[in-house]
Amino acid sequence: MSKSILDTPIEFLKGVGPRKSEMLKKDFRIFTFADFISFYPFRYVDRSKFYRIDEVKSDAAYVQVIGQITSFTKVGKGRVKRLVATFADPSGAIELVWFKGVDWISTNLKRNKDYILFGKPTIFNRKINIVHPDLDLVEPGNKATTTKLQAIYSSTEKLSASGLNSKGIWNVQKALLPRIIDEIYETLSDEVISSLKLISRKEAIKNIHFPENIEMLNRAEFRLKFEELFFVQLQMIRLKITRVRKLKGFKFPTVGNSFNKFYKEQLPFELTNAQKKVIKEIRTDLAQGMHMNRLLQGDVGSGKTIVAVLIMLLAIDNGFQAALMAPTEILANQHNVAIKEMLEELGLKVGLLTGSVKKAQRKILHEQLESGEINVLIGTHALIEDKVVFKNLGLVVIDEQHRFGVAQRAKLWKKNENGIPHILVMTATPIPRTLAMTFYGDLDVSVIDELPPGRKPIKTIHRYDSSRLNIFGFMKTEIEKGRQIYMVYPLIKESEKMDYKDLMDGYESISRAFPIPEYQISIVHGQMKAADKDFEMNRFIKGETQILVGTTVIEVGINVPNASVMIIESAERFGLPQLHQLRGRVGRGADQSYCIMITGIAVGDDGKLRMKTMVNSNDGFEIAEVDLKLRGPGDLMGTQQSGIMDFKIADLGRDGQIVQVARDKANDILKDDPNLAKPENGMMAIEYNVIAKGRKGWSRIS
Ligand code: ADP
Ligand code: MG
Repeated sequence: MSKSILDTPIEFLKGVGPRKSEMLKKDFRIFTFADFISFYPFRYVDRSKFYRIDEVKSDAAYVQVIGQITSFTKVGKGRVKRLVATFADPSGAIELVWFKGVDWISTNLKRNKDYILFGKPTIFNRKINIVHPDLDLVEPGNKATTTKLQAIYSSTEKLSASGLNSKGIWNVQKALLPRIIDEIYETLSDEVISSLKLISRKEAIKNIHFPENIEMLNRAEFRLKFEELFFVQLQMIRLKITRVRKLKGFKFPTVGNSFNKFYKEQLPFELTNAQKKVIKEIRTDLAQGMHMNRLLQGDVGSGKTIVAVLIMLLAIDNGFQAALMAPTEILANQHNVAIKEMLEELGLKVGLLTGSVKKAQRKILHEQLESGEINVLIGTHALIEDKVVFKNLGLVVIDEQHRFGVAQRAKLWKKNENGIPHILVMTATPIPRTLAMTFYGDLDVSVIDELPPGRKPIKTIHRYDSSRLNIFGFMKTEIEKGRQIYMVYPLIKESEKMDYKDLMDGYESISRAFPIPEYQISIVHGQMKAADKDFEMNRFIKGETQILVGTTVIEVGINVPNASVMIIESAERFGLPQLHQLRGRVGRGADQSYCIMITGIAVGDDGKLRMKTMVNSNDGFEIAEVDLKLRGPGDLMGTQQSGIMDFKIADLGRDGQIVQVARDKANDILKDDPNLAKPENGMMAIEYNVIAKGRKGWSRIS
């Protein structure tokens, strides 16, 4: 490929040079002219609006004022020297300050001439001033005022100090654009451009830096966001196509005795429509001999377990074994008890494998797995160890871990030498559609979007510390009714010591308020030995204790239907998904349940919004959407996957609709031309390969 001027290293750009280029590389990962031109503004200021000085408030964003310099003076000496000027219009005056270029600026400033001033006001010594404003003399032929939408770029303190503040970057963009404009090639096909009424890439890049008007700016943003998201979708959908085509899956064509008998005779309730829909989706997949890699999302309590059981029965009906993996031992035990009861009536054998299964027992288990005597193995991570060999594993269900890693997945894939077991990942952490389409765009996604009937919505309440005595009173009346209560304290790695102290202090004061022998309290936290933890937890599960005090170890999956009150201490320190998970521990029985979130008086805006969201909504997906807007996608998915989220302009929190448009378009195109081999898709194929090379290694399914 011939070299383009766009590939020129950034240090050769006029106005940048070696020192600034180092900073650009380090802080913004800008290495070439191409990188620089796709360093987009983060917002725009309307320069058609002029302020009067008496309207300039300290907290105003950028302002533009017409006025005159009435006086200026140099203050200080040497390095602390600064230039201070008074700038006035008929409504008042403000102070302008320069710390750099003092001599040069002072020789050029003109008194009593009209200037257009542009800058960001700040307060210093209780006075409003503007540091390093842009000043343009109003003269006949001066075109400074014709830029209506002024692009604002992010910069760093160091970069600004060396001249590349927002305006400096703008200046360099302005000089660069005409040099490279003819090299900006189109990346989308004519069909995509015309069907979505997009502007060309060239036009978009020009307008993103120098908008002709608001409409062109909007179209430029749409075009560039679309493009970015579209190529991610192409990549994701192609991964999926490749997986489906390359990986033969075991065929489960038969709906046999086990499934039917269970469904007709043993199912303790009517399935919800959402459960039926999901089971049908999965069955259709499995009947076709494609490999299934499916994410099943369903809010807490939506009944994912029974779906897993039915699919495992399908595997058994077709001559395979199934495994169910849980994130903790307690959860594995719970699943084991419940599922064993269901399946043993069908004459099936269920095994349990966790870290605490003794060696002798383990040996028997291994043998029974290899001989095929065990139909379903339930366990923790212990079950992916190499030693665990199955006769014919056909399906693995992974509960409550949507972040299950690639390496672990790869291990599972090796569990059957005749093929790759189907994988069903279940999660109660609702993932907003936008994220699911992007992160899990290569997976099949099913959603249970309905709760079983008859559930009473949990009453969620926000209270301040000062109401603790009232809350204790409320707890007592609930305990009198025979209910049980969770009480959760935060435990954050960075403040672990303090958090343990809080937990212990809390435990002490609860013990005083709820004395033995009338009350029994369990305590569970991460510093306890596993056996002690299980012992305490089991006392609560069996109903021997009325209160369970603990850190978030109780967060995931645990099911105690008689527990109807969840109290969350320092609730402002929890993220929304965690709060929602915790709340999901109650509301599992017939009684009215409560979630009480306690915070200090001083809660920040984000914290308040989180509390409000929880109080107003029981819908996990709605909560996840708010969370996405508050925290952005990086936090949600963990840093491990944040690389894929390095979007230059798209914002998954806000651009959900564009993601959908991009996905639909990518689907259409690949349906017609799966390898982008048609000439009309040539430009997209080139760009696709460029991106794929740059992003090597981010495909999560290897
Ligand atoms: P989760 O999706 O959080 O894993 P579970 O599978 O633990 O939820 O189900 C929560 C509770 O709802 C269980 O007690 C289960 O028996 C019950 N359940 C599941 N499906 C239904 C249904 N269709 N009708 C009534 N109860 C149901
Ligand atoms: Mg569950």
